[in-house]
Amino acid sequence: MSINFSGDGPEEVLTTASFQPEDATEASLRPKRLEDYTGQEKAKDNLAVFIQAAKIRNEPLDHVLLHGPPGLGKTTLAGVIANEMGVSMRITSGPAIEKPGDLVALLTNLQENDILFLDEIHRLNRSVEEILYPAMEDFAIDIILGKGPSANSVRLDLPHFTLIGATTRSGQLSAPLRDRFGVVLRLELYSTEDLRRIVERSAGILGVEIEPAGAVEIASRSRGTPRIANRMLRRVRDFAQVKGRGVITQSIADEALRRLEVDKAGLDQVDRRMLRSIIELYGGGPVGLEALAATINEEAVTLEDVYEPFLLQQGFLTRTLRGRCVTRKAYEHLGIEYLGQQQMDDM
Ligand code: ADP
Repeated sequence: MSINFSGDGPEEVLTTASFQPEDATEASLRPKRLEDYTGQEKAKDNLAVFIQAAKIRNEPLDHVLLHGPPGLGKTTLAGVIANEMGVSMRITSGPAIEKPGDLVALLTNLQENDILFLDEIHRLNRSVEEILYPAMEDFAIDIILGKGPSANSVRLDLPHFTLIGATTRSGQLSAPLRDRFGVVLRLELYSTEDLRRIVERSAGILGVEIEPAGAVEIASRSRGTPRIANRMLRRVRDFAQVKGRGVITQSIADEALRRLEVDKAGLDQVDRRMLRSIIELYGGGPVGLEALAATINEEAVTLEDVYEPFLLQQGFLTRTLRGRCVTRKAYEHLGIEYLGQQQMDDM
């Protein structure tokens, strides 16, 4: 069986949850207070208590690890925490810190109670990570002065700070690092209702009129991810201005999203290609992630971090010890006849 996946034209990135250049304006859409941060009730309820307790004791908040797929609001939540605590936040990321000295410079420049936000913390290199251990635990770092037998270790005290680490892959964090976080919060994909509220709030900030059904249409097709919902809103706004009266209605949203090849279930070309190739080339699965990634010409990490969470949550895909399998729902969604388990056994 052969299958041609070469699309025509550039890949549409509308539903990619990772940050794209066109998202540069998203800072203006970021909620600043906990009460404006929609959804994630469990994480928010816990945080509200920890923040209040730290404030009463006049201490920095315990170190916080936020994990979950991209675009769910980890950076936003870190900013909200800084605002609620009334402290400043410095932002950096794992790959940006190349040497231990870079981290030492960052840490020694913090003020008492400040927050250091470290995105993609699973990508810190080992020698940098080792500086973090005493910094997080004792608010101190050990610096070696001199070389050979005359070398001296000097302990440098740091301000009491809060580290907020963010990662899409908490499984890749080393145990010593993970253990040093007092608060570990997992962000979940958002419900359509939460996303509807986010879309309406963003539309208000962007100054575009949106009907409730228009907001629901965008919300239900943005794969549980606020970044995608905001991105779709901007694209649909263009359609509304050019094709409509400037108001986002349900039919304008539907037409715009259909043209952008996002289907009713919120799946884009990559999702559909992924499901279709498992069905057509691997008899419905199981197929290993690497083989699948090579088949559809995507990176395995992208499939795992960005695409899979939504397909799993929506029940289009299951993960077994032997690999990924599509479900009957995926066959039905793609309009391919489902012949049951027998089909897989025959392959
Ligand atoms: P992450 O750091 O997890 O990749 P971000 O914090 O950058 O995600 O969020 C992406 C965008 O989604 C932000 O611009 C923000 O406007 C929006 N967003 C995320 N979470 C929320 C939320 N809970 N409420 C409202 N908007 C949100």
